[in-house]
Amino acid sequence: MNIAHLLLGAARAHGERPALARGAGSHSTYRDFWRQVAVMSTHLKHRFGLKPGERVALAMTNGVEALEAMYAVWHAGLVAVPINAKLHPREFAYILEHSGARLCVVTPDLATTIAEAAAGLKALVEIVETGTRSWTFMGNGDPSALVERAPEDLAWLFYTSGTTGRPKGAMLTHRNLLAMTLNYFADIDRPAPGGSILHAAPVSHGSGLWNFPLLRAGAVQVFPESGKYDVAESVELMNRWGDCSIFLAPTMVKRLVEHPAVAELRPGALRLITYGGAPMYVSDLKRALGTLGNVLVQLYGQGESPMTITHLSREEHARRDHPRWEARLASAGLPDSCVEVRVVDESGRPMPVGEPGEIVVAGDTVMAGYLENPDATRRSLRGRWLWTGDVGAFDADGFLTLMDRSKDMIISGGSNIYPREIEDVLNLHEGVAECSVVGRPHPEWGEEAVAFVVRRGGATVGPAELDALCLAHIARFKRPKDYRFVEALPKNNYGKILKTDLRTQLADAPRAPGEAD
Ligand code: AMP
Repeated sequence: MNIAHLLLGAARAHGERPALARGAGSHSTYRDFWRQVAVMSTHLKHRFGLKPGERVALAMTNGVEALEAMYAVWHAGLVAVPINAKLHPREFAYILEHSGARLCVVTPDLATTIAEAAAGLKALVEIVETGTRSWTFMGNGDPSALVERAPEDLAWLFYTSGTTGRPKGAMLTHRNLLAMTLNYFADIDRPAPGGSILHAAPVSHGSGLWNFPLLRAGAVQVFPESGKYDVAESVELMNRWGDCSIFLAPTMVKRLVEHPAVAELRPGALRLITYGGAPMYVSDLKRALGTLGNVLVQLYGQGESPMTITHLSREEHARRDHPRWEARLASAGLPDSCVEVRVVDESGRPMPVGEPGEIVVAGDTVMAGYLENPDATRRSLRGRWLWTGDVGAFDADGFLTLMDRSKDMIISGGSNIYPREIEDVLNLHEGVAECSVVGRPHPEWGEEAVAFVVRRGGATVGPAELDALCLAHIARFKRPKDYRFVEALPKNNYGKILKTDLRTQLADAPRAPGEAD
């Protein structure tokens, strides 16, 4: 089944409801949105001569046009390649070439970059810039019928955020996206018609993936006019549209909670925040629950099994009287309904309860492989299992706690140290705004932990205080042997901390004289 059937279904069930909105203003109803997409797809097929299965790159900052382009692509039986608008020109060039895109839809701010990146690419036949005559022209003409696709056909080529190395193109099929959508209704939320989703994060990633369930539920898809995540604007838009669902990275939740505008949120404006993509520290989570109420659901997923591996439900967030409430807040919750999740050793044997191992997942959300990368595909897909590269452990009740990416784990004197555990402790300190712990080679111990710390404005916290905090909470050998106080942590375009960059910084800066051992 073509995933674009969801839009057809929404047009039938919610035709008169607003579908797309620019800021506070409605842009189209579901019926108009569907018609627009069906007309645009006629142009894709006939004007540009694109054949089912061919790829269309979308180099677009967030806006209603991004969803119009995506659905037109699917309606015509084509494959969408959404690209994060903040990438480096070299990364645009790489993805355009690697995906074999035949057409690229681009927003004006990226037009020059894409024109340069596309120079010399043989497969790319056309670039269409939104807002130009060429784009407007695509909205005129006759609608064409939806092109049917098989469930295993490719729908979305999802380039991984690449905290290391080159991005890889995870091939997501129509079945993958449909399973993810149904899983949303099973485990995350059952939104009521008439609500909204605010796309404050890029639709090339998690926020765009969540468009499917909210679209099918008849929610209006709201794009902030600023094109970015501005807390005050987001609060205004939640108040304007109401019953709002939003996907945020943990650092974005923290910004919302700490912003004075949060006091302006009116009752019923915010329905649900799904957060994920990186660890959310328990101290931040408790504060968010205290300020926002019971509106949080955590998800753990990755591009290779989009948004769907485990989740921590609203109910679990609210169970303050449960003896393991804090441990559960620190976990990523229970396996999702449509997948099987295991924690295994190197040979794939399940680990006993409480013992860490690599997290593997099987089910209809698991990608078909990486485009033209058989080695990486072989490493990640073994039989029906996707090896996530994440380390975690199940507790006796089946809750999964994520430790770290396997490559981020520190091995010191033969013992494993999970940076997340140390970061959780450092975050307890009022003076710590953000922190990240990485390993540094040590001649005797193999590796030792080093903490990078961003102080909260005006705070003077130093190594001695943080060391004492660690000694009070975790085993002595785990505590950082060095603290680096920095202005900011290096992050990628999705806000994930680049531990690789921190390790490089350490390799470039020798140990300070007299540093503690
Ligand atoms: P991406 O494919 O860019 O979405 O990145 C997926 C990776 O983000 C996962 O493999 C995890 O390492 C991390 N991640 C996703 N969700 C969570 C979560 N809830 N808690 C901690 N890390 C997460």
